Amino acid sequence: MIKRQTTINRIFKITGIGLHTGQPVTLEFLPRREFGIAFVRNGCIIPARYDMVTDTRLSTLIARDGASVSTIEHLMAACYFSGITNCLVYIDGPEVPIMDGSAWEFYQGMWKAGVYEFPENEVYLKVLRPVEVQHKDAWVRIKPLNMLDITMTIEFRQPVGKQKKRVTDVENAFAIVNSRTFTLQEEIEAIKQAGLAKGGSLDNAVVVGSDEIVNPHGLRYKKELVNHKILDLIGDLYTSGYRILGKVEANKTGHHLNNLLLRELFSDPANYAIY
Ligand SMILES: [Zn+2]
Repeated sequence: MIKRQTTINRIFKITGIGLHTGQPVTLEFLPRREFGIAFVRNGCIIPARYDMVTDTRLSTLIARDGASVSTIEHLMAACYFSGITNCLVYIDGPEVPIMDGSAWEFYQGMWKAGVYEFPENEVYLKVLRPVEVQHKDAWVRIKPLNMLDITMTIEFRQPVGKQKKRVTDVENAFAIVNSRTFTLQEEIEAIKQAGLAKGGSLDNAVVVGSDEIVNPHGLRYKKELVNHKILDLIGDLYTSGYRILGKVEANKTGHHLNNLLLRELFSDPANYAIY
């Protein structure tokens, strides 16, 4: 269990393509003394924090002073799983590269770079009072608990159907790290018509066909799709800036509700304690 602030032990780079732009993007990860994860784009430092999130329609996007970075959630989840609390990520495009559709390559990069520990603690946020947000039949709530425990339910047409998964030991739930993003086959045409997902392919997303998974090698895990929703939630929760301790229950949640949950949580200092 991480006890103190940490950063990466050395600089490293990762290049990939943006899912929506289809353009190559390079990330350069730098050690940071100051607390928190932040992106640097066009010379502007954008903290990867919930209050910098300005768009959640396709992914989690942060913006400040006219500069923005989208699709930060998988990289943030990799920071969570690596135990990295402080890092600067220079990016030369508008979108974090999609890589294989999971957090795996970011996590690998951080693991190879190694972790440097600072003396300061205060990396945990303990939930003290229940907080809940909802929209129609989608909701996400968090209750006091001494560890992070997540239960996620998703529901899509067959062959996905309703899937539920509970992860009690999130810090060590490594099957979540390499679970890929997914899309329904019938949605691809509309997305491409809208000029989005130019970089999308079977190399970076699971495509759900009418009765089976289209990707030649199928799924990495039987519950890969619900795993990925948990990955997104972990990445989004890490924009709190802290490692959250609480019992999270979610039904059909997404980036929008995940962000609203944090805004609600931080709206009253009696809801949480930092230590
Ligand atoms: Zn995702």
